[in-house]
Amino acid sequence: MIIDLIATKIFPYDFSASLAPEEIDLSGEDVKLKSNVALEGKVIKKIMQANVEGALNAGIEIECSRCLQPIDRKLDFSFEAAFVTEENYTESKEAELKETDLDVSIFDGAKIDVNELVREQILLNLPAQEFCSENCRGLCPKCGVNRKLINCNCEEKEVDPRWSALKNLK
Ligand SMILES: [Zn+2]
Ligand SMILES: [Zn+2]
Repeated sequence: MIIDLIATKIFPYDFSASLAPEEIDLSGEDVKLKSNVALEGKVIKKIMQANVEGALNAGIEIECSRCLQPIDRKLDFSFEAAFVTEENYTESKEAELKETDLDVSIFDGAKIDVNELVREQILLNLPAQEFCSENCRGLCPKCGVNRKLINCNCEEKEVDPRWSALKNLK
């Protein structure tokens, strides 16, 4: 979805969209979309920049930070982003925008790529750590099994010497 600021006559410009997972390119990222992205936003045009205020929600699949099992989560957040043209993206402008805590993108002054904006915002708003369950024990540091699914014996005391003798026969 593209918003064309030149074709758009009335600002602030309100928009809403439902974007299918295949419209957002998350290949190579540690997150998958499990539902459409529901998006509502507003474009505010300023003299040297355009701001987008929006809110989105989506179902995602991420990996448990301990055991790497896929887990389903809901993303639901609001954001503010600023678009400036390359010639206006001076150092002072950058500093000014950083101060207001906006995510800044460079654009051609006319077209806002909403799919790309959504992609960036999803990546910025992913939880830093997420666990499949509070008592997830993660992967065994010795044998690598997921200790939620399999009980390995690595943590048990010394292997009975008779068994290791048997093992050596192989
Ligand atoms: Zn886990
Ligand atoms: Zn183990």
